[in-house]
Amino acid sequence: MLAIRQAELDALRRHGEETYPHECCGVMLGRMDGDERVVEAVSRAGNTRADSPHNRYNIDPRELVRIQRESRERSLDIVGFYHSHPDHPARWSQTDLTEAHWVGCSYVITSVEKGRAAATNSFALEGSGEDDKHFTDEQIRVLANGSGGLKLVIGDL
Ligand SMILES: [Zn+2]
Repeated sequence: MLAIRQAELDALRRHGEETYPHECCGVMLGRMDGDERVVEAVSRAGNTRADSPHNRYNIDPRELVRIQRESRERSLDIVGFYHSHPDHPARWSQTDLTEAHWVGCSYVITSVEKGRAAATNSFALEGSGEDDKHFTDEQIRVLANGSGGLKLVIGDL
């Protein structure tokens, strides 16, 4: 299960609207609470896939390292990734699975139809490694803004 506040959910959905008709991508930072991933901040990343930005995304490894370092400084972990599907359903593609490597993380996909964010779904990457990794549908629990008294950080780190 993925728990996310309305504000962070809105932020990652808005990101997909802003980059439409290209895919957006970003990282979700947070912590584990039992088997639930709790998002405490989202960090936008640039899409480096200039060759096919409408249906591919890739986070620059150097940007990911920087996000990882800054999350550690705030005692947060990377709990997931998000991207958008411009004019395509909010379902994972074979490419999404192939390019997902963080077992134990959530992969959130927002469908952006004609520039407006539509459905948002989350998929947990499970398995023991590259050989048997797979996505399973996961529920998104939306928390009211302000719950937990956590600091809200949105945008480029
Ligand atoms: Zn995708």
